[in-house]
Amino acid sequence: MMDDCLFCKIAAGEIPANKLYEDDDLLAFRDIAPQAPVHFLIIPKKHIKDPAHVTEADEALIGKMMRVGAQVAKENGVTDFRLVYNNGAEAGQTVFHIHMHVLGGRSLSWPPG
Ligand code: 5GP
Ligand code: ZN
Repeated sequence: MMDDCLFCKIAAGEIPANKLYEDDDLLAFRDIAPQAPVHFLIIPKKHIKDPAHVTEADEALIGKMMRVGAQVAKENGVTDFRLVYNNGAEAGQTVFHIHMHVLGGRSLSWPPG
């Protein structure tokens, strides 16, 4: 747990979140500023800064984020959805604890802004 990390605090239950799924490894919770009717984040409870800091030891964990993200999307009524990881401020990352956005429930354009 990183003391000054918002998502570590959410994972530890120190800051409340609207949780959709939780197990020993992962937490899914609704984004506080949703960009689509369904917009939630999946985080590992373990602090990893961003995709560039994923190691071989994390591969199963990162794969699980995709499987659980798809499962929670389905539970929330969306079969078509977008998964996004932002890596670095220039790419739009604002919280430096790795997270996968799951967005759905509306038509999504491509390319992203
Ligand atoms: P990023 O821009 O780093 O890819 O995504 C961070 C996301 O976290 C943003 O979509 C933002 O709305 C969301 N967020 C920031 N602070 C909080 C918070 O305290 N609670 C929740 N649920 N989401 C947050
Ligand atoms: Zn963290």
